[in-house]
This record gives sequence, structure tokens and C-alpha cells, in this order.
Amino acid sequence: MSVLNVPEIFGSLVFDDRTMQERLPRETYRALQKTIQNGKSLDLSIANTVASAMKDWALEHGCTHFTHWFQPMTGITAEKHDSFISPAGDGSVLMEFSGKELVRGEPDASSFPSGGLRATFEARGYTAWDPTSYAFIKDRTLCIPTVFCSYTGEALDKKTPLLRSMEALNRQALRILRLFGNTDVTRVLTTVGPEQEYFLIDRELYNEREDLVLTGRTLFGARPPRGQELEDHYFGAIKPKVAAFMADLNEELWKLGVLAKTEHNEVAPAQHELAPIFSNTNIACDHNQLTMEIMKKVAERHGMYCLLHEKPFEGVNGSGKHNNWSISTNTGLNLLEPGDSPMENAQFLLFLVAVIKAVDEYQDLLRMSVASPGNDHRLGANEAPPAIVSMFVGDELGEILDCLEQGKPYSHRDKEILKVGVHTLPRFPKDTTDRNRTSPFAFTGNKFEFRMLGSSDSIADANVVLNTITAEELSQFADTLETAPDFEKALDALVKKTIKEHKRILFNGDGYTDEWVEEAERRGLLNLKTTVDAIPALLDPKNIKLFTKHGIFTEAELHSRYEISMENYSKTLNIEALTMIDMVNKKILPAVERYVDELSVTFLHKKALNPNMNCHVEYDRVTELSQLSADVYDEAYALGDAVRSAAAESDVAVQARAYEQRVLPAMEVLRRDVDHMETLTDEAAWPMPTYADLIYHV
Ligand code: ADP
Ligand code: MG
Repeated sequence: MSVLNVPEIFGSLVFDDRTMQERLPRETYRALQKTIQNGKSLDLSIANTVASAMKDWALEHGCTHFTHWFQPMTGITAEKHDSFISPAGDGSVLMEFSGKELVRGEPDASSFPSGGLRATFEARGYTAWDPTSYAFIKDRTLCIPTVFCSYTGEALDKKTPLLRSMEALNRQALRILRLFGNTDVTRVLTTVGPEQEYFLIDRELYNEREDLVLTGRTLFGARPPRGQELEDHYFGAIKPKVAAFMADLNEELWKLGVLAKTEHNEVAPAQHELAPIFSNTNIACDHNQLTMEIMKKVAERHGMYCLLHEKPFEGVNGSGKHNNWSISTNTGLNLLEPGDSPMENAQFLLFLVAVIKAVDEYQDLLRMSVASPGNDHRLGANEAPPAIVSMFVGDELGEILDCLEQGKPYSHRDKEILKVGVHTLPRFPKDTTDRNRTSPFAFTGNKFEFRMLGSSDSIADANVVLNTITAEELSQFADTLETAPDFEKALDALVKKTIKEHKRILFNGDGYTDEWVEEAERRGLLNLKTTVDAIPALLDPKNIKLFTKHGIFTEAELHSRYEISMENYSKTLNIEALTMIDMVNKKILPAVERYVDELSVTFLHKKALNPNMNCHVEYDRVTELSQLSADVYDEAYALGDAVRSAAAESDVAVQARAYEQRVLPAMEVLRRDVDHMETLTDEAAWPMPTYADLIYHV
């Protein structure tokens, strides 16, 4: 058995810092570092040198092509490959790659969603190199991470606003750090470690399910006699086939510099999780996209299919993504970590209450950032966080915040009243009871875990919102504190005031209960149940103000994202509904008819043998299945009508609402009866693999 030398292969397919130092002339390297660290623009001669070094390195690794790798608003990555060849004039070719090709590309933008931006502006789009994320090699192609914009500069992708939001947070956080006398920090970054859930199923079986192939989830399927009730899969021993997949996956990810760290079985059978070590948010986002892509690829190699859909199976836990998020400095300080001195603590508390205020004031945006038709099946379904955004800080920290707000001593032994900036925070143990899995947003000692993301989501949207809303609160705090005559007094008052005004968002209890839904309503918290309820947050005047103030989105960009999200909702439901109708007409009804015919023939044969023979089983089955077939037939027609009426709506919001309120219920009715038919039909006659086949087969 060959031994894997991890340090040797790690990052071997990445044009990372090591490789740059090795291969770039020193001045070029320095200039590039400046660009990376300070966002300075790069001049063309330097770009030429970098491009040439990149090309040599790529050729040595067997590459023939390069591509700008970008993240359009479809939520997945896009690439268009160009070879390095260039005619030499004598019939031969040279392998060339210029600085211009490195820094800018012009893919045809017209086939990517633009949400109306195209009509208003220009059809063409361009991609521009993001030097803060390393180039890498995938499938013998040099991939250059890029942003994707329209010719007039509007963002057409997920990366551009993410970079803008990181910049906004950097600006505002630095203002706060300066107030605390910190002069050595020059850059503040957010960090993210996204935990990725997924299902693995047999590939042959996958291919036999039209619904999985076309929509990523099962639209039919009766529950098997055994579901996940025994909960024996969670952290259970990993099956050899899955272990081989994971080993292969890790190796591929490590070569790409992805810090794949933890892997385990999840709650549902056939469900697993992979968590990387955290990195800066831009890299984490790129790496999560790569992880999802490589998962699919490696699964195929192992005869399996990787399902990233939020709810592939009804009645079985769906998949999410936990976005562990923190704020840290270029000097290595985690700003969400309580410190040792009164001032460090005060700084921690200020960042903490900034996030509390942000989550409270922008619940709608956080909810919007995780809204998708797939995630609608999870949020609020008692397996994932509820659709209500609230925040968990643990009992100890909760009590400290209480004492600060009310000017009380922290424990009965303390005599002194806690004062921000004067007293050290009482030592509170890291809350190990954080296994409050029902909380959508939990403080876990030195970071926040935002748990509402769907498994197939790009993490960009959620982090754009997190970074921006936190930047906004920090900017408000800085405005107040910068002009305060007495900093400590102002700080203490600000922290108290913020806790008082926003503590309604704090909730440590069980988020799955009906009491919480009622309590949240009493507190005035939002409960945006569906995607169609959540998307309008993009156009709320308070949110337009927020995004434009910090330069994250223009109003036109927000409109475009609103349109795209609404359209995506309608399109997804449209495909699902049409797939159901197709399956019913071409597979399910014919199969059931054949089975009914078989039973009828048996019935007639038995009666011919002996008119008094008991044919009760055949008779009842035929009767029941015939009735169900007739119902299903009608329901498929009704679903078709619902789809046509929804599709006829011209306003995107009205249309999405029509899909939600007319099409979705019709899909549910149809599914109930088909699933019922499945339980009455001979397994050999059923035209597709069952739930038991799919989730217990790997
Ligand atoms: P768990 O959530 O199971 O308790 P950990 O606390 O170890 O696990 O972390 C889960 C994820 O959080 C990992 O991806 C880890 O790298 C990430 N993480 C840890 N510290 C930070 C941080 N400061 N910023 C962002 N992510 C972090
Ligand atoms: Mg976790």
C-alpha cells in the first residue's frame, strides 16, 4: 500500500505563496503581495511576469488550457476553457499566456442570469482576476479565480459583493480598533469554516430516478419501514465504500489546498459531513464551491452519486451547511474571543453586541440569504433551525449580558457591579451545552455558527449579509464613540443600551416548539416561512440603504438579485412539477396498470377454476389501485393546470407566489396518492428504486 505524504501533496496543484516565492522575481512577488494585501491595482508588466510564471508552472503539471473561474448568480461555478496555443507563423505553435489574459476575460455573459441588468446596461460581461484567491489546476486546466461583472461594473456574480463586504467590515472594524488604541492592526478579515453535509447513493439507482436526475431530490417515495429513528448512523462506523470515497476526496482537496479536516456520518442513513479548517471568507467560499464540485466528481468514480440537495428524501433529515464565522486581525487576533484585560474584554463585548444588534435589526436579510426552494423543506421542519432568526449565547454569557445591562454584580459573591472597560469579564466557561442544535445562530466561544444555510448554497450570500450588517453596526458604534468626550463612559453606556434594545433576539431554549413560535411573535421577531416571503427583504428601503451606504450593492444590483431569486423559485417548482407529471404518465400509471392487469388476470383465472374461490386479495387490490390510479390521473391534470396558470403570471413576485400557493400544494396531493400506490404495489412492478433501495444500498 502506498503511503500518502500529505505535507508533500498539500497545495501541489495551487499557485500559492510558496510557489510564487519560488518562481517569481523578487520585485514581482513584492508588487503582487502589495496588491493582495492592500487591494492596489497591478500594472501590466507585473501581470505579464506573473502570467508567464503561472503558465510555465501549469505546463509542467500537464495543463493545456486556462480558464477564468467565476461564480455567476446560478450559485455554481462557471468556466470557459482556452488553450495556451498561439501560432508561431511557421506552422507550429507556442504555448502563451499574457498578463492581459490573466487579469481580464470576456465570457459571453448573455447566458448567465442577470436579473434585468443586461437589458438596462450591456449584454457583455467581463471577468477580472481576484489575486487574493490562488490560481489552481483542475482537469489539466489552469483555473484563475475571478469576479464577473457587466461592462458598466455591475456585479453579476457572488464573489464581487463578498469582496466588497469584506472591505466594508475591514473599514469599520479598523475604526473601532483605533478607538481602543490599537495601531498595529492594518487589516481585519472575517473567517469562515463551513461544515458541508451531503448524501451518497448508488449511481445506478440514481440514474433510474428521473426526479433525482432532473431535480436533485425525490418527488415520490413511500417511507421505508425503517427510517432514521434509531439514530445509529450519527458518528457511526464509516462503511468501506464510503471510507474509500472520503480518502480519495481528501486527497483531491488537499492537492487543491483545501483544509479538509473532519468527516463523519450524519444523522440520516447515507448522510455524511465534511468540515474544513476555517480560512478567510473569500477563500472559504471558493474552497466550498470546489469541495462541492469535487465531491460529485469523486463520488462518480466510486460508483456513487453525491446529492447536495437540501431535502433529497421526505421523512429523512435534509442537508445543511453550518457557517462558522468570526472576525480576526492580520496580527492573528480573534476579535470574538474574550481577552484577559479589561480593555480587551470591552473590545470583545463591543463586537459581540454589534453582532447581536446586527442579527436583530437584519433578521430579514439573514433569512433571505439562505432562502431557496430546497431549503424551504428544511427550515422550520423540526430538523433544521426554524425559519425564525434568533441567537444563542449560552447561559453564562447570557447572564453576564444581563448583569451588564442591569448594572448588577455578576454572581452573588461579587460585590462590584460590572462595568465595561473597567472590569475584566468574569471567567465564563466556553459553553459546552451549545449542542442547542435548534438555534439558527449560536455563539460558540470564539465564533458564531450560522446554521440556516442549505447544503447546496454558495456561502457567499450569507457572508455578504453577515459582513455588511456587522460593518453597519460597527460604523454606528464608531460614530458614537469617536466623538464621545469620555470614551469609557460612552462605551459602557453603548453596550448597556445595545443589550437592552436588542436582547429580544437572544433565545437559549428549544427552537422547535410551538411555544417558541408564539413567544417569538410576542417579541416581534420575524417568521418568514418561505422563500417567497423572504426575498422581498432585498428591496426593503432600510436594506437598500444599508447595502448602498457600504458600497455592497447598487439599487439596480439589488433589483437584479430580487428578480433572479424569484425567477429561480418559479423555475425550480416548474421543473419539479413537470417532472412529476412526466413520471406519473410515463412510468407510474403504466406500471400500476400492468400490475392491476396481472391481478385481474389472476382473479379471472381463479374464478374460472372455481367460482367460489376466495379472490378477495386480488379484488380489493384491483379496486383500490384502480381508484388511486384514477385519482392520480386527475391530480396530475390538476397539477398541469396549476403550472399553466402560474406560468402565465407576468410579475416575478406574483408568479413565485402562484407556484408556492397553487403548484406546491398540488404537488403534495399528487405525491401522497402515488406514495400510497407504491405501498400497495408489487416491488418488482414498481418502476423505480424505492427509498429503502436508495438510502440503505451504499
Ligand atoms: P463543532 O462545531 O463541531 O464544535 P469546531 O468548533 O471545531 O466544531 O469547529 C467547526 C468549524 O468551525 C470548523 O470548520 C472550524 O475550522 C471552524 N472554526 C473554528 N474557529 C473558527 C474561527 N475563528 N472562525 C471561523 N471558523 C472557525
Ligand atoms: Mg458545528
